Amino acid sequence: MNAEQIQECAQALRQHHFDTQIVTSTQEAFECMKRVIEAEAPKIVSFGDSMTMRETGIIEWLRENGDWTLLDGFDASMPRPERLEIRRQALMSDLFITGINALTREGSLHWLDMVGNRIAPVAFGPRKVILVAGCNKIVANRDEAEERIRRIAAPRNIARHPGFRTPCAKTGVCMDCNAPDRICNTRMEMLRCHPAGRILVILINQELGL
Ligand code: SF4
Repeated sequence: MNAEQIQECAQALRQHHFDTQIVTSTQEAFECMKRVIEAEAPKIVSFGDSMTMRETGIIEWLRENGDWTLLDGFDASMPRPERLEIRRQALMSDLFITGINALTREGSLHWLDMVGNRIAPVAFGPRKVILVAGCNKIVANRDEAEERIRRIAAPRNIARHPGFRTPCAKTGVCMDCNAPDRICNTRMEMLRCHPAGRILVILINQELGL
């Protein structure tokens, strides 16, 4: 992905009413998120799992700073039903942070979720949403976005879930399975940001995440 294509993606997103920032490193992404979070002064903050988001270090900072309550629906020390309950509460958080599976140079955002806890609060609920993505997530259009998710992101993501029994866990290739452990259940495409500026997309000019 060259600088021109990243600019093209950012420009299309801005035209679609997403706030958009291009940064060069995860550290710069962290500084950008920190500024926005401090300005928003949220009471409740939560997040959907994302390798890119975690690489910025924002979750550790949120844990140690501020007057907000951080809802962590991924705390491995908790039983799964408790974690799922926290993810339900995250739907009503003031500020929500997560990643994106694919972005297009036409200015749309794309996800494919297992549980839906990542896409639901992006669509509605939290007053402010911050999304982070490496430039490797940028593709030309919707077809390429869906292809990227199906062929690259989902089969790689399954490797982060040892014990999940799906065809891709064995072969690394998507078979559009019907397994109970299937991680590809709900697809979301966001075409415009409403209200304008509710969502901030931070594009990091590095290869990050799946
Ligand atoms: S549909 Fe099934 S086989 Fe394909 S990536 Fe998702 S979990 Fe793996």
